[in-house]
Amino acid sequence: METISSPADLRNRTLAALRAGKTIGFVPTMGALHAGHASLIRRARAENDLLVVSIFVNPAQFGPAEDLDRYPRDIPRDTALCEREKVDLLFLPRVEDVYPPGFDTFVAPGRAAEGLCGASRPNHFRGVATVVLKFFSVVRPTRAYFGEKDYQQIAVIRRMARDLDLDAEIVPCPTVREADGLAMSSRNAFLSPEERTTATVLFRAVSAMARSRETGERRAAVLREAGGSVLAAEPAFRVEYLEIRDAETLDPIETCDRPAVALLAGRIGGVRLIDNVRLPCD
Ligand code: AMP
Repeated sequence: METISSPADLRNRTLAALRAGKTIGFVPTMGALHAGHASLIRRARAENDLLVVSIFVNPAQFGPAEDLDRYPRDIPRDTALCEREKVDLLFLPRVEDVYPPGFDTFVAPGRAAEGLCGASRPNHFRGVATVVLKFFSVVRPTRAYFGEKDYQQIAVIRRMARDLDLDAEIVPCPTVREADGLAMSSRNAFLSPEERTTATVLFRAVSAMARSRETGERRAAVLREAGGSVLAAEPAFRVEYLEIRDAETLDPIETCDRPAVALLAGRIGGVRLIDNVRLPCD
């Protein structure tokens, strides 16, 4: 594995690979890698000739009061994981490599970025879309892999790829969970043992909604109540949103007469957590 920090150097490598007829798989991350990231990396390894992973804690997607400064970082451990997973190129740019002085152009995502996480994190998806587009320009991926844990992020990226004629195929990958259902996240490390126990409430709530849907309930309001009553039993979890949306467009729906997804976000102490499950269709 080779580690590269310069976007120009990486671009030379990926252009050479493309000219040689190779496919390129790309997994963008913010590091503090866990089994969820590893699942994306493994899939990308299996499906492509050249595998590029990036680790970049992107300041543009953090709000002023958010956890940019304390976001977990462990490059030696992450590098070892990438070696084990047979990554070819590890892209580790510095902030000034990505946003040099004078940088002044951002991608403005549309409706997919409104509501849900976009409501409480106003410029979050603008920062995500901008860095993903920049990295796509450098990496030129054949396929790029994203986790369904960040469901709205995939909707934003997929829309951007279509709207801006990007070549990359956007590949969504299932959420990897701890044994008790908690979706793996770099931010789980911030939870105290007690908070970690409370954190199972996210998966319990969205699972209750999926079960209610499985037994034939189609009304979004009733499905939300099934999740809401699970949340009500855990006052330490402060809910930000609990919603049912169209699985493809993320438009709000009142009746589950098409593929849908239940999405949940909230806080335990100072830690913001999200989760979602798809609701079965009949
Ligand atoms: P992050 O480092 O949090 O920016 O995540 C990098 C990529 O890994 C994103 O596409 C995430 O959706 C994905 N990811 C994070 N956690 C998980 C998980 N538990 N299961 C599957 N993918 C994940």
